[in-house]
Amino acid sequence: MIDLRSDTLTKPTAGMRRAMAAAEVGDDVYGEDPTVTALEERVAALFGKEAAVFTPTGSMANVLAVGSLVAPGQEVLCEARAHIVRAELGAHGALTGITTRTWSHPDGQIDLPAIQGMFAPDMGMYFVRTVAVSVENTHNFAGGSVLPLEDLQALRSWTDEAGIAVHLDGARIWNAHVATGTALATYGDVADVLAVCLSKGLGAPIGSLMVGSADAVTEARVRRKRLGGGMRQVGVLAAAGHYALDHHVERMAEDHENARLIAEACGVDPASVPTNIVVVDVPSAPAVVAAAAEQGVKVGAVGPQRVRLLTHLDVTREDAEQAAKVLASILA
Ligand SMILES: *Cc1c(COP(=O)(O)O)cnc(C)c1O
Repeated sequence: MIDLRSDTLTKPTAGMRRAMAAAEVGDDVYGEDPTVTALEERVAALFGKEAAVFTPTGSMANVLAVGSLVAPGQEVLCEARAHIVRAELGAHGALTGITTRTWSHPDGQIDLPAIQGMFAPDMGMYFVRTVAVSVENTHNFAGGSVLPLEDLQALRSWTDEAGIAVHLDGARIWNAHVATGTALATYGDVADVLAVCLSKGLGAPIGSLMVGSADAVTEARVRRKRLGGGMRQVGVLAAAGHYALDHHVERMAEDHENARLIAEACGVDPASVPTNIVVVDVPSAPAVVAAAAEQGVKVGAVGPQRVRLLTHLDVTREDAEQAAKVLASILA
């Protein structure tokens, strides 16, 4: 089976498993797991930030990150299909007590005039106060689209002027980095706090980090524990993260090429596929999912007439060519 349903489906490689087995560990709730501490310091440095905290999921990293900027009763602005408002099951409202308002962009991009129009400064007891803007790079539900650096920088200068913060959901920031060549630290510069995942295209079985200032991360450690995210000898998982950063970042360029190959076979303009996600409009998504599965290719339906395919570490060039052939014949 060639499984294109998600880039979370990767299994740890033999090398990664060896690194996990050999990891030095300690009780991380006591701050005594050297592999976790090294990973946190490493990822913080990559983004030019003071500190980071390891979490089991990207959703938890996002809850900690957004919650470090937005207090109960305040609001964050984000794009309408952002993961934080569509896929985290209301966590930010249910657990942190914040509210959200959204702008809409077909490619999940930053719409600065819309954001400026929605911005509500402190108006006392009359309106919810905007204290942060959240952006997603790459944008999952907008087909892995990349936010141009100029737009991120323009948002950063305006939010600085307005006195509000920026959260970057960087679950796939590595894909954006590889696709554009933009340094991770440059992405760090445009955000106060980031959430990044090791468990998507990087191929770790689990693990994300919230990255930000030392104060924000100290507070996030308390909130992580409150959420039940205090983990013990978790260096075995952090070791997978180290291994992924050592071996699986630059190779994402292959995933992006494979995605464009599959896009072309599906009649999607490869120029509209900047990273590893291909979205295809089809007459019947369930019919395409079933026909592809019969020929050894798993794709996911994301709407009645829309399927989504992701390339990743466990999809070789030959797999991509085979999937392209199968999908081209089904869609013809
Ligand atoms: C996958 C993802 C997350 C985090 O997801 P988890 O399944 O909780 O690890 C956050 N944001 C985006 C954009 C994602 O794609």
